[in-house]
Amino acid sequence: MKIIDGKAISQQIKDEVKEKVAAMAAEGKQVCLAVILVGEDPASQVYVGNKKKACEYTGIRSESFELPESTTQEELLKLIDELNGRDDINGILVQLPLPKHIDEKAVINAISADKDVDGFHPESVGRLSIGDKGFLPCTPAGVIELLKRSDIPMSGKHCVVIGRSNIVGKPMALLMLRQNATVTICHSKTENLKEICKQADILIAAVGKPKMIDSSYVKEGATVIDVGIHRLEGKKLCGDVDFDDVSKVAGAMTPVPGGVGPMTIAMLMKNCAQGID
Ligand code: NAD
Repeated sequence: MKIIDGKAISQQIKDEVKEKVAAMAAEGKQVCLAVILVGEDPASQVYVGNKKKACEYTGIRSESFELPESTTQEELLKLIDELNGRDDINGILVQLPLPKHIDEKAVINAISADKDVDGFHPESVGRLSIGDKGFLPCTPAGVIELLKRSDIPMSGKHCVVIGRSNIVGKPMALLMLRQNATVTICHSKTENLKEICKQADILIAAVGKPKMIDSSYVKEGATVIDVGIHRLEGKKLCGDVDFDDVSKVAGAMTPVPGGVGPMTIAMLMKNCAQGID
């Protein structure tokens, strides 16, 4: 069984971005990401901190806006409008979730599609679905990179995606389709989930249920990608896949931590540096 090393592959991508950013700097072009955090959610603070660190590593300038929990939707929309209009800002990232009094959709929609490095704007989603150039959502785009750089063929293969969220499951399925896979999307109402998963050459779990996928869901030799992240008691991390059990049947799989997780930030850096194309 081959372990797909997301840590090493994400490092490779960050190094490529670093080179590209340096080359752009030599031509007098600077890349800058605006990072907006509203409130004091500790997990969000960690995520934002990691994104800023990755910016430092790759040479991307980051401008940080840490706003109090009491920030109104109008204030946030005004800031986004200002950033949309600034030529020196290439990407705008609003850390989710936002406090309950702010409408997340309105905020996502306010970000200019040209600076939508998270790929959540309806225009980016539309471009993805019709196959036009646009920003790709970082986590599913990271999964494609993992598969490509591990020489796992996707064309013609049966890929089963478990989960249909807007940030992982749905864009994941569209990206696999773009790679010419035959794609099945499963979700909480799917009947015969196990039987369908067992047909997959590539099984992608984005369910949000710790260790739900055991070896009884996996065909011998299949590739299993685990998008889930859960913190167990004792602070150990695990995914949606029972790694020890599935590793007995899978041909290749991602671990948690060190699989899909580090790819998300690497792909965010890639989006910042390469712009819309
Ligand atoms: P979500 O809760 O929005 O979606 C979960 C999906 O799983 C839903 O579409 C639901 O229909 C489906 N589902 C739930 N229970 C099911 C069941 N019993 N059988 C079949 N399908 C079922 O979650 P999400 O935002 O898509 O995230 C999924 C997981 O990925 C979470 O563990 C999350 O923490 C993780 N995640 C990781 C990264 C990363 O960077 N690695 C990024 C985003 C999300």
